[in-house]
Amino acid sequence: MLPLTEEQKLVQQTVRAFAQEVLWPEAPRYDESGEYPWPQLRALAELGLLGMTTPEAWGGAGMDSMSWALALEEIAYADPSVAVIVSVTSGLPQYMLARFGTEAQKDRFLRPLARGEWIGAFALTEPGAGSDPAAMRTRAKKVDGGWILSGTKSWITSAGQAHLYVVMARSGEGPKEITAFLIEKDAPGLSFGPPEAKMGLHAAHTAEVRLDEVFVPDDQVLGQVGRGLAQALAGLDSGRIGIAAQSLGIARAAFDLAKAYADEREQFGKKIRHFEGVAFKLADMATEIAAARGLVFAAARKKDAGERFTLEASMAKLFASRLAVSVTREAVQILGANGYHRDYRVERYYRDAKVTEIYEGTSEVQKLVIARELYR
Ligand SMILES: Cc1cc2nc3c(=O)[nH]c(=O)nc-3n(C[C@H](O)[C@H](O)[C@H](O)COP(=O)(O)OP(=O)(O)OC[C@H]3O[C@@H](n4cnc5c(N)ncnc54)[C@H](O)[C@@H]3O)c2cc1C
Repeated sequence: MLPLTEEQKLVQQTVRAFAQEVLWPEAPRYDESGEYPWPQLRALAELGLLGMTTPEAWGGAGMDSMSWALALEEIAYADPSVAVIVSVTSGLPQYMLARFGTEAQKDRFLRPLARGEWIGAFALTEPGAGSDPAAMRTRAKKVDGGWILSGTKSWITSAGQAHLYVVMARSGEGPKEITAFLIEKDAPGLSFGPPEAKMGLHAAHTAEVRLDEVFVPDDQVLGQVGRGLAQALAGLDSGRIGIAAQSLGIARAAFDLAKAYADEREQFGKKIRHFEGVAFKLADMATEIAAARGLVFAAARKKDAGERFTLEASMAKLFASRLAVSVTREAVQILGANGYHRDYRVERYYRDAKVTEIYEGTSEVQKLVIARELYR
């Protein structure tokens, strides 16, 4: 694996120190209360961590994807809920705006997002359109000077909290005639459902976005009319590196907790790490975490080199999310009854881990993408 640059090491160390000091102590409280973590996000914004890969010209930090992945791993290690909010706002709306937005849109929407004054949301999924987003029913009807949008988006991260929504809607009769729209939170006709009662990631609110005849002016169409699905999928390629990094952070945190516990807890007159049944679990966990890191870094490096990275991003997401689930499950097992207790943190990582196999494309969808890419 290629070594990190001095700048990347500095990002890793800085974010690790910040996450340990600010996010780690508060994460259990946010999980319990389900409060959206605004203070944590403001603190991240002050460090320039909400617009890491957005060019400096638009208020971002202009860093590479490798640094972004390193930062997300450290944030997720301390608090996976904060990590998914950061991954979405920077990896999807900002990425899409930087790539497909007009200068005026970048000035108006990307700048506040990159500075962390705003949080962004990405609204693709609908009650009847998850893995198959082309089945979406939200409609955009052309009218004088803009479009009228009606429909319901479901499972949207930061819905109700975010300032800007990138909403994909059907803008024509063709099966893939979908367009992306930029909609501010206070647009008339836009409303939100209550936060969903989720298994984990309690602080990262997920809710419906309801569009009741929302007027969107022409200058808030993102990219080309009819190309919204392709643009959203390009955004997801980038976002998947973020989710893979989040998964890696979750796995590493649970592993470290289990490793420390196995070195303290004694049964049958010795530390449990001396039992092969425990030691081999730790050996497998450590090896697979290293392998996942290799895949995440490979995807980030490919993106940074300006090459097509769809295959690598899906492989990293598939492998790292599966690993997050298996490592957190084994960590609970190594802690025994204490693993099942909230005070020991690993049960929360176990709950938080599962969704990494579901959002931004389920594991099955990643396999479809990988299989397709193999024959490109
Ligand atoms: C916490 C959370 C946050 C989310 N945040 C966002 C967000 O910010 N924005 C957004 O747009 N969406 C978001 N989502 C939605 C998420 O991306 C979807 O849930 C996901 O794409 C899967 O869609 P679905 O839930 O409808 O499952 P379905 O598509 O109904 O899939 C059900 C099962 O069938 C399998 N399946 C489906 N099709 C195939 C196939 N062709 N081959 C094999 N298996 C298949 C799936 O893998 C899955 O196991 C979020 C979801 C969650 C849980």
